[in-house]
Amino acid sequence: MKALVKEKAEPGLALVDVPEPAVGPGDVLIKVLRTGICGTDLHIRSWDGWAQQTISTPLVIGHEFVGEVVETGQGVTDIAVGARVSGEGHLVCGKCRNCLAGRRHLCRATVGLGVGRDGAFAQYVVLPASNVWVHRVPVDLDVAAIFDPFGNAVHTALSFPLVGEDVLITGAGPIGLMAAAVARHAGARSVMITDVSEERLELARKIGASLALNVSDASIADGQRELGLREGFDIGLEMSGRPEAMRDMIANMTHGGRIAMLGLPSEDFPVDWARIVTSMITIKGIYGREMYETWYAMSVLLEGGLDLTPVITGRYGYRDFEAAFADAASGRGGKVILDWTV
Ligand SMILES: [Zn+2]
Ligand SMILES: [Zn+2]
Repeated sequence: MKALVKEKAEPGLALVDVPEPAVGPGDVLIKVLRTGICGTDLHIRSWDGWAQQTISTPLVIGHEFVGEVVETGQGVTDIAVGARVSGEGHLVCGKCRNCLAGRRHLCRATVGLGVGRDGAFAQYVVLPASNVWVHRVPVDLDVAAIFDPFGNAVHTALSFPLVGEDVLITGAGPIGLMAAAVARHAGARSVMITDVSEERLELARKIGASLALNVSDASIADGQRELGLREGFDIGLEMSGRPEAMRDMIANMTHGGRIAMLGLPSEDFPVDWARIVTSMITIKGIYGREMYETWYAMSVLLEGGLDLTPVITGRYGYRDFEAAFADAASGRGGKVILDWTV
């Protein structure tokens, strides 16, 4: 089968023939239909410091996908051949304290699909049945391909109750955009989102942000005034990993404000801890998705009319992966999809 492989410890990816993955007991073999390109895949392609420390080659990359079940291993009774499925890309140990307590997203021994084991940018992928999410109601294939990052957005956006609240999102990449849509849908009073890309801010307006602010020429405080807020934002969703975004967010929260932080900073940086203490701000780190409460929420949010289609801005056949990766790396558009059936 064809697969996108990181062959050697150097920049780049190759589309090569590899053996189809073997189906062990409890496994599900999935024919991949479409995949989403994630920031993680861009790191692996460019072979940055994180990738050098994390990835062993050769590796089939990719973890965001939708596909069709073609075979089930021994003992799999609840997933049928032909089912349309996506996959939770974090494989957990099942034995640690958090796994045993049902808090699998807090597992200390998580292995990432397309990171710690062969992934989904291929014509076939194998996953344990416990990581397979069956789409029980029809979902747009492109949207189904990005359930993994949609889950990051839902997990972050719904970390704190936001009905009637004023929400600030720093970073209008695909996950920030999806979080804005979720916050709106879930009843926030206002959702302000910041970025430095006009293209991304335009997508944010399309998806329903109350105010999409370019922080290269306006401050978050300016945005607060424009929205008519008197005491600051109630909820902050940090999606950029950038020190200045986190600092500016902290400076613009109301007393008792709550921040969910998904953006991954690349290094240590100082913040105003005195302000966090005296404003009694809560900060919660978010990683992955709750298994499988977040997945349930994603499915029912879409059933309830949440529209994510404006977030998807690039569609390519898998042979055009170089163009697709360049598009995803541009930092201007939304989500980029690879079609594995063309
Ligand atoms: Zn991802
Ligand atoms: Zn565990």
